[in-house]
Amino acid sequence: MPGQPPAPGGAPAAPAGAELPLGVAPSPLALLLLGRDRDLASERGVDCPGDLPAASDPALADRARRARAALGDRAFVLGHHYQRDEVIEFADVTGDSFKLAQQAAARPEAEYVVFCGVHFMAESADILTSPSQQVVLPDLAAGCSMADMAALGQVEDAWEVLAEAGLADSTVPVAYMNSSAAIKAFTGRNGGTICTSSNADRSLRWAFERGERVLFLPDQHLGRNTAVLQLGLSLEDCVVYNPHKPGGGVTVEQLRAAKMILWRGHCSVHGRFSKDNVDDVRARIPGVNVLVHPECRFDVVTAADSVGSTEHIIRTLEAAPAGSSWAVGTELNLVSRLAKAHPDKQIVFLDKTVCYCSTMNRIDLPHLVWALESLVEGRMVNRIVVDGDTAHWAKVALERMLALPGSGTTRG
Ligand code: SF4
Repeated sequence: MPGQPPAPGGAPAAPAGAELPLGVAPSPLALLLLGRDRDLASERGVDCPGDLPAASDPALADRARRARAALGDRAFVLGHHYQRDEVIEFADVTGDSFKLAQQAAARPEAEYVVFCGVHFMAESADILTSPSQQVVLPDLAAGCSMADMAALGQVEDAWEVLAEAGLADSTVPVAYMNSSAAIKAFTGRNGGTICTSSNADRSLRWAFERGERVLFLPDQHLGRNTAVLQLGLSLEDCVVYNPHKPGGGVTVEQLRAAKMILWRGHCSVHGRFSKDNVDDVRARIPGVNVLVHPECRFDVVTAADSVGSTEHIIRTLEAAPAGSSWAVGTELNLVSRLAKAHPDKQIVFLDKTVCYCSTMNRIDLPHLVWALESLVEGRMVNRIVVDGDTAHWAKVALERMLALPGSGTTRG
C-alpha cells in the first residue's frame, strides 16, 4: 500500500483493522503510532470497520458476555496483568506475556485466541500456537513503546558495526520477550536466545558460555540490572548502544572492552519511577517495603527492598503478612487490582502520579466487544500473523530459552 509506514520492529506492514472472511489469509499488519488524530492514512490501526460500540453503551458488558458465550470453546481470551479491569473480567486466563503465550499453545482446540495485551505478545502467541489457530488483537494500536525502540533495520546496522569491528563472532544477542517477532528472529538467526524478566540471569549465563559479550535488546535497564546485580559484572562492563547515533555513539574500543552492550531502549512505564519516589514513599510510610520490576532504572532497583517480575510481585504480595505496607513500582492497573485483592495490607503505587501503560489501555471494552461480536458474525478482524521465516527463527530463539534449566515454568 503506497505511503504505508513500516510496522514497528521492522515487521512488514499492511492494512489494519481489515475485515476478512474467516479462513482467508490476511495481509501483514501495521501497528500505528498514537496521537495522529484523524489522519487515517497513518492511523489505520485505530480504525475499526463495522461498528465500534460507544464506550458509554450501558449494555457493553452484556454484549461481551453474550458474544463470549456464543463463541464457547472456539475462542480463548487471554488477559495480560496490565489490562483494565473491564477487560480482565472476560479473560479465560490472566498472566504475563510468556505465560499467556504458553497458555494459548496449550489450547489447540481454540480456533481464535483473542489476545488482550500488546502486539509483541500476540505475535508470540501466533508463533507458539498451531497454524490452524488465529490470533486476534482487539486494537492494533496496542503496541509497546519499548519493543518499538529496537527496529530490525537498526539492530542489523548495529550487528554490522560489530562485524566490521571483528566482534560479531564473539557477541551473543539476547532479546527480552518484550521485543518484536522480527527481533526475536534476528536473535535466533545469530545464535542468541530470549529471556523473560525472571530468567534473564540464566539467559545471560548461557550467552556468556558461548561468547565474550552480549548484545542485550531492547531494555537497557533489565540488561544492566541483571548483569550487575545477578551476574556480578560492574557498571563499567556495560555500554549503551544508541541506534540514533553513528556507530551507536560508542567507540570500537568501548565495544571491544564491554561485556554487556545494552540497547538504548526502556519501558515508558517502569522507566518513570525514580529514586526520589523511593525516598518519598519511605518518608511518608514508615516501614514500607518497596517492591519493583527489573525494568526500572538501576538506582530505583538498588534502592528497593525486592525486585522481580510481575509474577514475583504478585506472589510476594500474596505471601506478605497482614498489616504490612508495600509501595509497588509496576503498571498501575495491576497495582490497583492487587490493592483491592489484599485489603488487609497497605499497597500503594510507588509514584504519586498516574502511570498506566497507554498502549495496554488501548484494549478497552468497546474494542473487545467489537472483536468478539465480529468473530460471532463470521468476520475475522485484526488478525496477527507472523510470516513463516520470522516465526521459524523466533521459535529457534524461544526454544533455546525453554531449554534453559527451569525455564519451562518461568514468567516474564
Ligand atoms: S508496560 Fe512497558 S514493556 Fe509493557 S507493554 Fe507497556 S510500554 Fe511495553
